[in-house]
Amino acid sequence: MFTEYLHPASVEEAFRTLQKLGTRARLVAGGTDLTVHPPADVTTLVDLSRTGLGGITADDTGFHIGALTTLTDVLDYSPFADIWSGVIPTMLAQVASPLHRNAASIGGHLARGRLSDVVPVLLSVDARISFFDGGHHHMPLADFYSTRKNRTRLVVTGVHLERDTGRAAFRKFARTTYDLAILNVACAIRLEGDVVSWARVVVGERPALAVELSEASSVLVGHRLDAATIGRASEKAMETVEVRNDPRASADYRRHLTRVLVRRCLTETTGEEVYV
Ligand SMILES: Cc1cc2nc3c(=O)[nH]c(=O)nc-3n(C[C@H](O)[C@H](O)[C@H](O)COP(=O)(O)OP(=O)(O)OC[C@H]3O[C@@H](n4cnc5c(N)ncnc54)[C@H](O)[C@@H]3O)c2cc1C
Repeated sequence: MFTEYLHPASVEEAFRTLQKLGTRARLVAGGTDLTVHPPADVTTLVDLSRTGLGGITADDTGFHIGALTTLTDVLDYSPFADIWSGVIPTMLAQVASPLHRNAASIGGHLARGRLSDVVPVLLSVDARISFFDGGHHHMPLADFYSTRKNRTRLVVTGVHLERDTGRAAFRKFARTTYDLAILNVACAIRLEGDVVSWARVVVGERPALAVELSEASSVLVGHRLDAATIGRASEKAMETVEVRNDPRASADYRRHLTRVLVRRCLTETTGEEVYV
């Protein structure tokens, strides 16, 4: 049960509080996750709202999204409609409900990691994350997830997106509009002429933290993005994806979905109309 609510005035103070109180303290941002799944042993919530981590800023190189920015504010930030084929607002419109997005923060979402539509898309566009764990760090999101397993003991401070982008697409397969995905896929590509020069194929809700399927991405590079290449990449994605059973779906079904959603995402990046 939560019995104490603290309001640190800086990121450093929030981190010191976490360190001092140990596992009985948790950071809180939007609180959407913590209220639905309150951790049994946590008594103290450390509110980040006075740490100045909100808002989106832009410069010549790209965009910085502060950790406390709500998913609604990211969705409504109009420059994101012009980068990566508008995949960020397209994806965010499929996250839970508008009410939920009004409270949920991007930092809380990324610290949590799992059960996410946001993570596959941000991994596919090579987003970077910044965080504080006694020192300030800035690294690719993929490295953050592979090196920082205990993310409840650090403060996520923001996300960075480059301005120089390519094309991208996202597909979520869920039982209902508001449900979590049974599987989701994000693809991003850059072209030189009509040849793919860079690609990311990312699969999430396998059900595990999203990962890039690097062999499927490699199939694309150096080739025209035609039906044959897309077919080979989606077959490779299905062969190499690691999936498992859970109450939502079987591993076999997830494998099948991987091939279908990768094909749809890649086809969408060609500008062709795709059946949803
Ligand atoms: C009913 C429901 C439906 C959902 N549907 C979807 C969906 O369809 N698609 C999807 O992608 N997601 C979905 N989600 C996930 C949702 O988007 C996340 O719960 C939300 O983004 C978390 O953000 P928050 O600010 O509310 O986090 P909080 O609840 O405040 O915190 C979540 C966790 O992150 C930690 N934390 C918070 N801020 C930080 C920080 N800056 N640094 C480090 N740690 C931090 C907290 O200590 C806690 O452990 C759903 C969640 C719920 C409860």
